Amino acid sequence: MVDELYFYRLLIILAGVLSLFFSIFSYFKLKNAPGARHYTIVTLLSAIFTFSYAFELTSTTLKEIRFWLGIEYIVMPFIPGFILLMCFEYVGIKLRQRHVFLLFGVPLITTFMHHTNELHHLYYVTVGLLVEAPFPIIDLEYGPFFYLHSIYLFLCLSISIIVLLLQLKKSLLQFRIQLLTMVAGLFVPILANSFYLNNLSPYGIDLGPVSMSVSFILHGIALFTFKMFNVVPMARERVFDNMHEGVIVLDQNDRIVDFNRAILRIIPSFNSFSIGKGIQLALAQEHVRLAELISRGKECEYERIDGNKSEHYQVRFSQVVNRKGTAISNIITFVNITETVEMQKQLRILANYDGLTKVCNRRFFMEQSVNILESIIKKEKNASLIMFDIDHFKMINDTYGHEAGDIVLSEIANLVKFSIRPEDSIGRYGGEEFIILLPALDSKDAMELANTIRTSITETLIRIDNNNIRVTASFGISPILITPVEQGEVFKEALRNADHALYEAKRSGRNNVQVFKEEIPTA
Ligand code: GH3
Ligand code: MG
Ligand code: MG
Repeated sequence: MVDELYFYRLLIILAGVLSLFFSIFSYFKLKNAPGARHYTIVTLLSAIFTFSYAFELTSTTLKEIRFWLGIEYIVMPFIPGFILLMCFEYVGIKLRQRHVFLLFGVPLITTFMHHTNELHHLYYVTVGLLVEAPFPIIDLEYGPFFYLHSIYLFLCLSISIIVLLLQLKKSLLQFRIQLLTMVAGLFVPILANSFYLNNLSPYGIDLGPVSMSVSFILHGIALFTFKMFNVVPMARERVFDNMHEGVIVLDQNDRIVDFNRAILRIIPSFNSFSIGKGIQLALAQEHVRLAELISRGKECEYERIDGNKSEHYQVRFSQVVNRKGTAISNIITFVNITETVEMQKQLRILANYDGLTKVCNRRFFMEQSVNILESIIKKEKNASLIMFDIDHFKMINDTYGHEAGDIVLSEIANLVKFSIRPEDSIGRYGGEEFIILLPALDSKDAMELANTIRTSITETLIRIDNNNIRVTASFGISPILITPVEQGEVFKEALRNADHALYEAKRSGRNNVQVFKEEIPTA
């Protein structure tokens, strides 16, 4: 019997040494494999747990046993959580900080309840020594919190297995073997634990620590082979991964051979399992537009929209050819051109819009109007043009100053912007003169709209310093007859006519609307 005890102790010490070895080995040698950081932690915790258990088995009194059990319960409850994190990271799932905290809630409760058991007996109902054992072994009657920990352990391991198995379908053969090795590693402690909990292990010795070492061998293999399949020169990690440009390397069959870290900003779904997949398949679901651009294979721009943020990339393709001149690889590079595109946008706004009133400037308005007229030729018969000018504006400048004049201009422009329909456009024609293009509106309707705007201008009080200023404006309208002739000329004529009508409005005493009418030639 005593020989048997020596055998178990030896086995457990061996398991502890193995765990410690894995921890040190993974810390120095497996740094970059996914999940390796958690593997280092898990193996270290397990080594502490296993050595404490070995001491527990060599203890001769209940007091001593309880001391070592206490040490075990500082580390052991956290092991399942780290195993889960390791498996998540292995398949490329990143948990949020908040979920990580939640994950470690149960172990914290377990450790707390275990160490305060004397006060409530909710972890162990009774603690004693096993009478029939040939050496002192603790005999425990479990309370509800012990079962909470067991459920947590099983849940963590089961979720880990499910997460790994879900990846299996999407993976290539070499990764499938690694995944199955990981899964096998998770089954070992489940089996050992159910043996222990069902009192099937010899003399109630917990084989958990030994089973863990076996599973760590399997996990270590899975992580190590991951590294092996990704043996790449230092240069790759240093240069390729630190590049600002996102890069994807494809083979001659358009399968992904490699990609760098920067690409994850553009295609976050890429992970180690994407290697070997056809690029079209890898992009199929979430990046349809990008898949289409890549299938064309021509330099292009790609806009990635993430929530309300948008990023612009220039996508370049360069082929790698062998000595015979056959293409063996295609390198796709994504250069972030967001800043340039944003600057171009800003420049376009500066070039096309009036800085003070934020409406189109004269040149852009004319350009846009001709385009609008051309686009509506087929469906509309008419359109109208309103030109209006603030009355006695010079007086406002002279009385209240130029800055006050500026405020009046932008207030009036704003007021008009909100009085017109979405399809209408407004521009600043010059000084205090504005133009409005009204597609599909005849001069009668345009006159009605102009009068509405005129009235609201008259009724609006503009506050400048301590003064309320009221202004009026005069309006000239020109109908635009849409005919399939050169729209540039049609528009210029409408401008002349609207100007003419506006002159009439000024002449008729201001603050009124006039529609252009052909003068009937005198006989
Ligand atoms: P009318 O009723 O005949 O239109 O008289 P008016 O005083 O409005 O016309 P006039 O053309 O004599 O004066 C227009 C004034 O608008 C002259 C110019 O100094 C002023 N002006 C032009 N652009 C701006 C501007 O951007 N800001 C300010 N504050 N004034 C401007
Ligand atoms: Mg004026
Ligand atoms: Mg004027």
